Amino acid sequence: MNWFKKFMTGRYGVDQLSWILIGLSILISLLSRLMDSKILAVLYIIPLVMVFYRMFSKNIAKRYQENMVFLNKWNLIKRKINKIIQRIKDLKHYKYYKCSNCKQTLRVPRRKGKIAITCPKCKTVMIKKS
Ligand SMILES: [Zn+2]
Repeated sequence: MNWFKKFMTGRYGVDQLSWILIGLSILISLLSRLMDSKILAVLYIIPLVMVFYRMFSKNIAKRYQENMVFLNKWNLIKRKINKIIQRIKDLKHYKYYKCSNCKQTLRVPRRKGKIAITCPKCKTVMIKKS
């Protein structure tokens, strides 16, 4: 294992983007088996090649930057998914509206009849059914 340690010195290694690429490769591979697709059977190699290229790359700054761009997008997607999950949980007790003026999302309690909703951001008043 000493030769491997020596070989990996100064190389980037594995990061979060690499793990996602490995997962993507496995997913494509499984899909190719399920769908009996020859195109997918070849395509699964692309993410794997990217993983190995990134892992053995000596341009650490560039690989780090790629991972940061990926993480920013990944966190954005995670936040949107969490927001959707939260809304589904709230569905029973709250209703969501968008302010007609500034598009701010407004959450109001359900079953209160017709209510005046005042946007906290721009103070626009809307009459809506809750
Ligand atoms: Zn508003």
